[in-house]
Amino acid sequence: MVILEEPIKGVMKIKNYVDGDWVESTSSEYRDIVNPATQKTIAKVPLGNEEDVKAAIDAANDAFPSWRRTTPLTRARYFFRLKALLEENFEALARVCTMEHGKIIDESRGEIRRGIENVEVAAGIPSLMMGYNLEDISRGIDEILIKQPLGVFACIAPFNFPFMVPLWFLPTAVATGNTYVLKPSPWTPLCMVKLTELIDEAGFPPGVINLVNGDVKPVTEILSNPGVKGVSFVGSTKIGRDVIYKQCAITGKRVQAQCGAKNYLVVMPDADVPSTISSLLSSFFGNTGQRCLAGANLVLTGEDEEFNAKMLQLIKDSATKIKIGYGLEEGIQMGPMQAEQRKKRVLGYIESGVSEGASLKLDGRNYDSSGYPDTCFLGASVFEDVTPDMTIAKEEIFGPVMSVIKVKDLGEAIETINKSNYGNAASIFTSSGKNGRRFQYEVECGNIGVNIGTAAPMAFFPFSGMKDSFFGDLHGQGRDAVEFFTENKVVIQRWP
Ligand code: NAD
Repeated sequence: MVILEEPIKGVMKIKNYVDGDWVESTSSEYRDIVNPATQKTIAKVPLGNEEDVKAAIDAANDAFPSWRRTTPLTRARYFFRLKALLEENFEALARVCTMEHGKIIDESRGEIRRGIENVEVAAGIPSLMMGYNLEDISRGIDEILIKQPLGVFACIAPFNFPFMVPLWFLPTAVATGNTYVLKPSPWTPLCMVKLTELIDEAGFPPGVINLVNGDVKPVTEILSNPGVKGVSFVGSTKIGRDVIYKQCAITGKRVQAQCGAKNYLVVMPDADVPSTISSLLSSFFGNTGQRCLAGANLVLTGEDEEFNAKMLQLIKDSATKIKIGYGLEEGIQMGPMQAEQRKKRVLGYIESGVSEGASLKLDGRNYDSSGYPDTCFLGASVFEDVTPDMTIAKEEIFGPVMSVIKVKDLGEAIETINKSNYGNAASIFTSSGKNGRRFQYEVECGNIGVNIGTAAPMAFFPFSGMKDSFFGDLHGQGRDAVEFFTENKVVIQRWP
């Protein structure tokens, strides 16, 4: 058994980073950050208050005039430096991510890579931020469109991708000339502390990027403070819609709120079996089910029952063999849930599935946690005979639970998907181009997979989402991000 060295020794007391300095929170309230696999406390995070975030917003506003006058080329060069530092620290960052979140090391490495890709895209800002123009809109008169930064933007991040998600926003926001306030999840703050240390080393001017820790109070201040021009939120639908989107509308801020999900994966009888099985296992059980793109409902059509039985048997056989344990240990395939309360929540859903009449064919409550405290561990569960009206089919479970729903054909599968309140992702597995195109055309979801289990957009495409999975107009990443973080100004000029 080989366990990778832990980069965090002892218990780190987390500080905020404001105006280029590491400062203690004004709050005396702290929460323990516990490694979910070992149950050891690895850090203490301040549950900061309004004062902390006010100071960060003020610093960001003070830094804005000079930062927006810094040329795009020079701004981009800070990101080249940051990219080099991220590569140097790649493995340590991945291990920190595993220590605070629980995901296995390869999942953490994938997450760090995805984050770095956003930094790489932002380093191309001189090209990405260009406007457009037309000579002679009328004789001797020209019209140009220029894209300008707005001021201070803020990110409110979730626990499940503590490194990648803030990087969907921060690099583009700052490269386009805005300044920034980052508020990570109070459950997984360490990745952003490590990123900020590298931001400091890269030499970004004081106040351009600020880090404030906490939970509800800093968010309340971000949403009400007139010094903030826009907010990027990623988290649950309840908070995203009822708090963030609503408050930003009241205070007139730009907002993009990427929210919860309930993703359907449809397997047609003409699908390639080995590659489909491997994609399904990774989609449903990867990251212990704690992904907004995770498979939740597996949909099979009634066109070939023999095929369905074979698929289900293969899924259950493979899911039973998933090796559970500490993500820093070699050979481990699934880590723990991020916190005990998240495991309890999933256990509640398993009970609800049983009581509503679904057949629990694989019970994730029976597992072997490879000698680690079983506080947060959970095995993979598979429910069959699930109907779309059951709670486990409708609500986001956010754990390693597969619900199998049978429908008549592809038409009914698409109808079922489109009845869901959510619209984050959906996938089809098929060898028919006709099926694939129909699925892509008709399904009301932002991210579509065709023979892909986890349809995660790259940094140069928007991370989409519809219905209760997204509130706003412009998504994170890609061209959407450049639009979100800039104002279009039109100039019409004549020089008689
Ligand atoms: P969450 O909504 O509990 O928390 C998200 C952020 O909001 C945190 O920073 C938290 O401190 C803050 N917050 C929590 N309660 C608040 C309140 N009452 N007022 C103001 N701020 C508050 O979400 P989570 O549990 O950290 O993350 C999991 C959720 O995120 C899932 O629903 C998942 O689907 C979603 N998610 C969505 C995407 C996407 O792109 N659509 C990506 C990742 C995660």
